[in-house]
Order: sequence, then C-alpha cells, then structure tokens
Amino acid sequence: MPEKPIFGKYELGKLLGCGAFAKVYHARDINNGQSVAIKVINKTNISNKETLPDKHIEREITILRQLRHPYIVKLHEVLATKTKIYFVMEYVKGGELFTQISNKGKFNEDLSRKCFQQLISAVNYCHSRGIYHRDLKPENILLDENGDLKVSDFGLSATTDQIQSFDGLLHTVCGSPAYVAPEILTIKGYDGTKTDVWSCGIILYVMIAGYFPFYDQNLMLMRIPVSEMDVFRCQTDIISSFDINPATRITIEEIIRDPWFRKGLKFIKFTE
Ligand code: ADP
Ligand code: MG
Repeated sequence: MPEKPIFGKYELGKLLGCGAFAKVYHARDINNGQSVAIKVINKTNISNKETLPDKHIEREITILRQLRHPYIVKLHEVLATKTKIYFVMEYVKGGELFTQISNKGKFNEDLSRKCFQQLISAVNYCHSRGIYHRDLKPENILLDENGDLKVSDFGLSATTDQIQSFDGLLHTVCGSPAYVAPEILTIKGYDGTKTDVWSCGIILYVMIAGYFPFYDQNLMLMRIPVSEMDVFRCQTDIISSFDINPATRITIEEIIRDPWFRKGLKFIKFTE
C-alpha cells in the first residue's frame, strides 16, 4: 500500500542521495503533480547519536530563502516535525555534475567553460549577498534538463555576520578534502570569497582534466609544501591563476575579465 502523503501534500518517491544528516527524495506535489526534491534532515543522526545544532539548520534555511538565481537550486518551502525538517526544493533532473564528469571521463573545453561561467555567476551572486558556500564540489552541483548548473547544499555555508570581528575572517575548518582551500587548514582564519574561488578552480581543473590537480587528494590535509604539489598542470591559462596563496589568487572580478572565461559569454549577467 502506498504511504500516505507527507503533510497531506507530497508523495515521497525514490531516494536521490543521502549524507550524514540528510536524505533527499524525489516527491510529487499531489495538488498539481509537480516534481520536487525533498531534503529530509534528521536532527539526530541515529548511527553516531550526534545532534545537528538548530542554528546550522536555521542558517541553511535563512540562506536558501534569500537566494533567487538561475544557477542556484530554489527552495519552495520548509516543513517541520519535532525531529525532522523537510526542505521542499525544485527537482533538478540531470543529477550531479560529479556523475556527468565520471560518465564522460572529462568535459571538452567549451562545456567546461560554460559550466564554469554559470558556477562563477552563482558564486559571485552569493558573495555579493555576503554568503560563502564553503562546500563547492561536483557532488553539490546539479544539472537541469538543459544542462544548466544549479548550485545546491548550503549546509556548510556562512554569512558575513559569522565573521569574527577582531580579524574580519572566518575560522570554522570545513569543506571536503579535495576541494578545500589550503588556507582553511592553517586555522589562522580565512576569507570566504577566496576559499570559494579555490574550490571553483579545482572544479574547473577536474572538468577539463578528468582528474584531480594533486597526485594525492590527501596532500592538502597533510600540508605537504607547495613545491611538491602538481598544482594546476593544465593547458588552460586561467587555471594557473588559482594560486595556492590566497593573497595572489585570482579574484572573481579578475575571472570575469579573463579572455578565456569571456568566450561565448552571452546570456549570463553578473551581479555588480
Ligand atoms: P548533504 O548535505 O547530505 O550532502 P545535499 O543537499 O548535497 O545533502 O543532497 C544530497 C544529494 O541529493 C545530492 O548530492 C544530489 O545527488 C541529491 N539532490 C539534492 N538536492 C537535489 C535536488 N534539488 N534535485 C535533485 N537531486 C538532489
Ligand atoms: Mg552535499
């Protein structure tokens, strides 16, 4: 027998993905038949008995509610019970950028550039609103039926009000090993715009090359000196501008002015 619709509104369908606290399901809005994706967050992770702090969930909701952008996944509504929170989002049909890269082996230059342009457009929009994603990676970037990007999973994102006023920097060490900017791991504090740019650089490299820019993904975690890394050995000039040093790393403004980046840039508007 089919389960009854949750909140009398949505019929849950197949599981699309899951993480430590969240499971994402395809669902159908029974009023209009529309497909949606519902991220169900269990406040308590049964397996390790950790509890997700309310402020983390509230932050993700506040951030998602503010964001309206063609390349960012839309939140329709948030529903809650005592133990679970349900994010009802637009359903993004094409799956993860990660799966697409894995299936194709790598992307050609034009496709990599198009995805990168849309990613930078979305990230620039977030930064202009004082929001840092902090977990940009191909698993958190979805593709719609037209092959356009939708940045998702703002579960680790931060806002400017989290910046500790004494040094103007963020301090939480977070992200995913292969995509995390090196300065995050130094625990000295970091600028969220620069760390997101680093992750975008790794994503671009992975799209073009089909593999990571480091021989060993754990190199970053082990803090091996820069000279020993195979950083950005890629044909595209812009790649070498994603400097390991945040002070000299390319900025979004510079990326947007770069001739390689601008090629075929017709339809994307950038927030000033
Ligand atoms: P987590 O915090 O557990 O990483 P995510 O928000 O990244 O949760 O979602 C987990 C996975 O669920 C994603 O990697 C993706 O495969 C799938 N998913 C998430 N949101 C959607 C969506 N709106 N449409 C389709 N699939 C989605
Ligand atoms: Mg995720």
